[in-house]
Amino acid sequence: MPHKSTIRRKAYKKKWRKKHSSALKAYYKQYYRDNMPIAKFQARKRHLMRNFGMTLSQYDEKLEKQQGLCAICRRPPKKNLLHVDHDRKCCSGAKSCGKCIRDLLCPRCNVGLGMLETTGLATFQKYLEKHEPIKSHI
Ligand SMILES: [Zn+2]
Ligand SMILES: [Zn+2]
Repeated sequence: MPHKSTIRRKAYKKKWRKKHSSALKAYYKQYYRDNMPIAKFQARKRHLMRNFGMTLSQYDEKLEKQQGLCAICRRPPKKNLLHVDHDRKCCSGAKSCGKCIRDLLCPRCNVGLGMLETTGLATFQKYLEKHEPIKSHI
């Protein structure tokens, strides 16, 4: 049986989130405080700066602009935080020069977009068009 206190805490958090949904920045700050040990928080700061030349507040600003949602599927991230997407034509690999940063994406869309960019949209479209007649039979 789950602990009653855990349930209550979850309900409280849900309520807290609802109440403060407009103050996303505060929520994420609270999120960091609640869920991230200091060491992890510092590592994240370093990761953002080293890989994207981005400060945590720049990330938060972007996040706020996107209302905390993935820029493609418009869904909030489940467990992981949103990834920073950058133009791989400018910087191939995982790092960005800081100038080619695009939006924040959920891990799924980030991976999907990466595939799309390397394979090419036309190839995907061709495949879908090939199978389009089958779909219309259903
Ligand atoms: Zn997404
Ligand atoms: Zn770049």
